[in-house]
Amino acid sequence: MLNSRVNLLGLSQAKLAQFFQDLGEKSFRVQQVMKWIHHEGVQSFDEMTNLSKALRSKLNEIAEVREPEVAVEKISKDGTRKWLVRVDNGSCVETVFIPQGKRGTLCISSQVGCALDCSFCSTGKQGFSANLSTAEIVGQVRMAIHSLKETEPDRERAVSNVVFMGMGEPLLNFDNVVDAVSLIMDDLGYGISKRRVTLSTAGVVPAIYELAKVSDVSLAVSLHAPTDELRSELVPINRKYPIAQLMEACQHYLDGLGEHRAITIEYTLIDGVNDQPEHARQLAALLKNLECKINLIPFNPFPGSDYKKVSDDNLEQFQQILYKKDCRIMVRTTRGEDIDAACGQLVGKVNDRTGRHARHQRRLEAKQIPMLPIQNDDVNSRTSNREFRR
Ligand code: SAH
Repeated sequence: MLNSRVNLLGLSQAKLAQFFQDLGEKSFRVQQVMKWIHHEGVQSFDEMTNLSKALRSKLNEIAEVREPEVAVEKISKDGTRKWLVRVDNGSCVETVFIPQGKRGTLCISSQVGCALDCSFCSTGKQGFSANLSTAEIVGQVRMAIHSLKETEPDRERAVSNVVFMGMGEPLLNFDNVVDAVSLIMDDLGYGISKRRVTLSTAGVVPAIYELAKVSDVSLAVSLHAPTDELRSELVPINRKYPIAQLMEACQHYLDGLGEHRAITIEYTLIDGVNDQPEHARQLAALLKNLECKINLIPFNPFPGSDYKKVSDDNLEQFQQILYKKDCRIMVRTTRGEDIDAACGQLVGKVNDRTGRHARHQRRLEAKQIPMLPIQNDDVNSRTSNREFRR
């Protein structure tokens, strides 16, 4: 039977206001219900004790508050956690929590798989299956916050930052992602400030212009190469939206943000591919006039990929060149490697619709390499959300 109840977990404040207006309810219901859903994390309308009985029973009929279910949780020895989260179409996506001192960063997925097929990313090798709904995106945040509260009750705010750097290209699931971003930043939602919520894109240029119209969320751009020739090889969407157009879009986005904001430029360093001194110099020149910080990410290997991680010497040299050119840089340390939770290792469990996954598996078999990690994961030993949380 088709579930036609509205999942209130996925309604932005504006949409929830419309929902209650259509029901002929007063506008203060929006505040009440959002607090129950996002602050208190309740599962049912019966727990919303400041709503009238009549309203509760109406809501039980037509609406629901439903979080995606956790299939597997893994905890790395460095404290990183990864949840395999089952979404409506039966596939699974991955959500990762990375504690770092006082900061706790939650890395969330926006799509099941990814259509973009960046050459160094294992999610791309899974092909594309579906967009996540707003409830499935926000549900990852809600699930993580409440799960961490149970195991780390002393941390006042376990999730301090949210990054859209899990599976998928967020700007190709624009409407659902924009609503999710607004709920994550909304005080009646998760109240995380715009500086601590980052949307990462491979460079869907027209969507960056659209985003500038509706949001001031922080933006990260996956650049990975300083020239079109190399970038088109690593990030195929560059053939459609080359670097010059991408840089213009970044500047436009930045212009809309106001003072003291910067774009994050992500640069995954791959041994012998994009880690040479000339690449660093070209990168510095390219970014000379853009207010940005450069995030250097050592490539994380995954089965079937021929690329290798940057050497320590090349990483050091690359950094030094950028420093001398006055670039602001950070090096992302690899976390959660033992549970395949590092950048680019997120593969979920995707019912691929593109055939790309099958092609990749055939390559692995031909090379006698074990299947992608998730195939070995015990997705069936699942814990239901309720058991898991309570
Ligand atoms: N589609 C979005 C968000 C997902 S990827 C984007 O492209 O930005 C999040 C970041 O991890 C991106 O910068 C991506 O390039 C990087 N990444 C992907 N695979 C990686 C790998 N194997 N090693 C290191 N970083 C990787």
